[in-house]
Amino acid sequence: MTSFADLQLAMPIQRALTEEGYTTPTPIQAGAIPHLLQGRDLLGLAQTGTGKTAAFALPALHRLLTHPRTQTPKSARVLVLAPTRELAAQIDDSFKNYARHMKLRHAVIFGGVGQGRQVEAMRRGVDVLTAAPGRLLDLIGQGHIDLHDLEVLVLDEADRMLDMGFVRDIKRIVALLPKSRQTVLFSATMPKAIEDLAHSLLHDPAKVEVTPPSSTVDRIRQGVMFVKSEDKRAATLLLVKNPKVQRAVVFTLMKHEANKVADFLNAEGIRSEAIHGNKSQGARERAMAGFRDGSVKVLVATDIAARGIDVDDVSHVFNYDLPNVAESYVHRIGRTARAGRDGWAVSLCDAEQRAWLRDIEKLIGKSIPVVTDHAYHSEEAQNSTMRPPVLGGGGRGRNQPRGGGQRPSGSRPGSGQRSGEGGRPSAGRPGGNNRPQGGRPARSRTK
Ligand code: AMP
Repeated sequence: MTSFADLQLAMPIQRALTEEGYTTPTPIQAGAIPHLLQGRDLLGLAQTGTGKTAAFALPALHRLLTHPRTQTPKSARVLVLAPTRELAAQIDDSFKNYARHMKLRHAVIFGGVGQGRQVEAMRRGVDVLTAAPGRLLDLIGQGHIDLHDLEVLVLDEADRMLDMGFVRDIKRIVALLPKSRQTVLFSATMPKAIEDLAHSLLHDPAKVEVTPPSSTVDRIRQGVMFVKSEDKRAATLLLVKNPKVQRAVVFTLMKHEANKVADFLNAEGIRSEAIHGNKSQGARERAMAGFRDGSVKVLVATDIAARGIDVDDVSHVFNYDLPNVAESYVHRIGRTARAGRDGWAVSLCDAEQRAWLRDIEKLIGKSIPVVTDHAYHSEEAQNSTMRPPVLGGGGRGRNQPRGGGQRPSGSRPGSGQRSGEGGRPSAGRPGGNNRPQGGRPARSRTK
């Protein structure tokens, strides 16, 4: 097995890794780092939680150490593009962490906050710039950043950046970069649009894949509960009350639903915070800090806000709503079972979302075991042939980016506020009894 010593990273980096407690490279690191150290372009297929940040950060730091250069004002030697501010901030933190024994100038740039400090950070130039595409283009346009002597470009979570509509911004940024550079693209999934982007950006790339793009990590035990939409909150309460739940992320489609679910759980005595695009940066950071230190047990999140959740001990992911884009399911449940741990992912599926479940099962290539031993089981939801709602007021289709679209009003009954108390039987072990010993999840879905 490869060890970090085998990878021959510069000593200051190795020391930081030892202090971090990293002994063995993860598969994506073992696969990607040697190619990147040789200066090759790379296409990495890996989800969050696989150690992909270090897979691109460590070789970039090695390059900075072994090829020192005087700093040019407003420039960066390494640029990492990331879809959200949370993810950008985390990547920047990781660089800082791995570079603790070297001198590293770094900056992170994203929208939603004033630009003054970001401009100031770039004034003298940096080694590593981590940026969300929109704000980066703004600052380039204003003449605060000049990337003409960039050496390494990393696109992280490229599929998500495309989902969020950043493809044109990315192309505009790339057009400003020198042709001779190293380019690295990481994506959790490989739809055609990513293949095309990779083809246009990467030169003879090495390909490293740690999980098949459409498969879910085997360590995650999955289950689905068919419920009426008005029972979803009560069912969620039942799920989060399970003593096995240490930290849970609950996903909703809509921001307002995230707020309502968090309020409901708080009223039931479960410390919860909602995070979504309408929350201020400060509120999101406070919520994340509480989640990390354990004072907040449940984070209720919409897909886009959840991209930045980088917490290793998420024991459970609950899909209050199924995602309307099947790939998002893979992203969502990848929030659990990280860093070698086990995790649970339980989805609530109502009649309207039944078709989305079929799409998800098609994508992941297996049936998700059905959990029926709970008070809210709905045959009607299970057997539904309803067409799912079209999301987004502007006629946005279900395979198009979501970006906080609203369900057409009146398209579903309002969610009730049943508490789930009063002697109802327990929802029982999410997925627990539906798994054959030691094997893959059972194909126990009744037709
Ligand atoms: P990432 O996929 O980059 O978000 O990383 C997931 C988590 O794994 C992070 O908390 C990292 O600190 C941790 N991690 C990354 N590489 C290793 C490693 N080789 N050994 C142990 N933990 C790691």
